[in-house]
Amino acid sequence: MALTGQQYLDSLSDGREVWLGGERVADVGQHPAFRMAARSIARLYDTLHEPEHQRVIGWETDRGILSHRAFRVARTRNHLKERAAAMRHWARLHYGFMARSPDYKAGLAVSMGASPDFFEPFGDNCTHWYQRLADDVLFMNHVGVNPMVDRSKRPHELPDINVRVVAERDDGFVVSGAKMVGTAAAFTHCNLVFSFSPVPLDADDSDFALIFVVPSAAAGLKMISRPSYELKAAGSTPFDYPLSSRFDENDATLVFDKVFIPWENCLVFRDADRANRFFTHAQVTQNLMLHGAVRFAVKMEFMTGLLIKLAQQNGTIGMRGVRVRVGEVISYTQMFAALVRDACAAPDPGPNGTVAPAHRSIFALRSLAPMIYPKVREIMQLVGGGGFIQLPSSSADLLSTELRPYIDLFYQGTEASALQRIKLWKLAWDAIGTEFGGRQELFERCYAGNIDNVRLENLFLAEHNGDLERLTGVVEECLGDYDLGGWQVSPWKD
Ligand SMILES: Cc1cc2nc3c(=O)[nH]c(=O)nc-3n(C[C@H](O)[C@H](O)[C@H](O)COP(=O)(O)OP(=O)(O)OC[C@H]3O[C@@H](n4cnc5c(N)ncnc54)[C@H](O)[C@@H]3O)c2cc1C
Repeated sequence: MALTGQQYLDSLSDGREVWLGGERVADVGQHPAFRMAARSIARLYDTLHEPEHQRVIGWETDRGILSHRAFRVARTRNHLKERAAAMRHWARLHYGFMARSPDYKAGLAVSMGASPDFFEPFGDNCTHWYQRLADDVLFMNHVGVNPMVDRSKRPHELPDINVRVVAERDDGFVVSGAKMVGTAAAFTHCNLVFSFSPVPLDADDSDFALIFVVPSAAAGLKMISRPSYELKAAGSTPFDYPLSSRFDENDATLVFDKVFIPWENCLVFRDADRANRFFTHAQVTQNLMLHGAVRFAVKMEFMTGLLIKLAQQNGTIGMRGVRVRVGEVISYTQMFAALVRDACAAPDPGPNGTVAPAHRSIFALRSLAPMIYPKVREIMQLVGGGGFIQLPSSSADLLSTELRPYIDLFYQGTEASALQRIKLWKLAWDAIGTEFGGRQELFERCYAGNIDNVRLENLFLAEHNGDLERLTGVVEECLGDYDLGGWQVSPWKD
């Protein structure tokens, strides 16, 4: 049955090896660099047990177990719509700032549940993991990208770097190497490890052609965290860092030092062809991306609301230039919401009677989001100007009786007290300007993979789904309307 928030927090205390600031973190749920983000995730788990939320997010599995609706394999468009609504319900609880939550990898789980046959001879492992993930609403993330050592080399040309098989045993195999980054790795129960690169694996890379699940507390697995924005915020108040202080899903580099992987956790072994086809198989990308799409749409709504409030408090909301920029951002927000709706309303057929979010909308969204988010951040800066810097160093300044009269006078906004204005602008700065805010932009740029590939793949799809012929056919039709001899078709011909 779905974990409760407390069970989730307790589950993090399992001996996992998380490193931060040269020290091993004793308990992720208690440590000041992680505990608030852990509570944010625990809150999601708690909603699964609260009737008012359960109506939207709850789902009873075939085995009669309470789970999250994101784990239901979709057979109708309504299933997809309900999946998206459940994901949206959770994303609203963190305003779209946490990209990893237990429903995120449900997208992959449903693809596994829809077609275990793809993973033969490991099909039973696939079914087993789908059921485990769904039954307990386990929190899984993935690590696919290799460390950024030399992108011009193939995996086998960097034999000591990328995750590879170093020994094979009767009961499993042993891997060593590293993966560049796993978002929220410290908060997960397990990670799916695979190879994700713009260059496909070939026969020489078979030691690297693996897909497997590794528990976060596996012996020999080290998670080396990047700096913690939550830790920085912990020295202040939520008033100063309202987002960093609770939604910092710390990213970590995962180092595998002779980690044993039992066969039951293996999905693909030394099979370059299958490892390459993994993302196109059973619409993995579409199912995975639905969560990214829904979350991004929620975040866009939040960013748009922030932008409007900034302009209102600055007295610029009536000015034409500002209105044009706000209108532009509103149009992006509407577009992303529409793409999510379309992805569910007109799904693609999947294996074994299942359906998946429509690939055209999902792939369009996947390439547009990394281009649009930096634009939105830029527009926030253009509209907010230096107002982000006219902020006191901390909320403590508002508590100083000596400073307060000056602050009340000089920091007030249009129809907003100084306190209201500082509160809003600090929130906006945390969204776009603090280290947390800067990471948000890089994250959205890199979310869906190689920055060029996410656009390139739209052309690749068009070459294979008939769109290329359809699009060029319209031009052919127009060219056929006339010739050297004049109009060829009515009504112009006569
Ligand atoms: C905040 C953050 C969180 C992340 N979280 C996760 C996670 O949880 N799990 C995970 O698996 N990954 C994660 N990633 C990694 C993310 O998936 C990658 O950053 C993304 O796929 C882009 O790959 P890259 O960073 O290796 O850049 P590259 O693909 O190396 O691209 C960098 C530049 O080099 C060029 N380039 C590189 N290789 C080629 C090539 N072969 N041909 C042509 N041009 C090339 C690109 O066009 C681009 O301009 C995260 C990244 C960030 C920033």
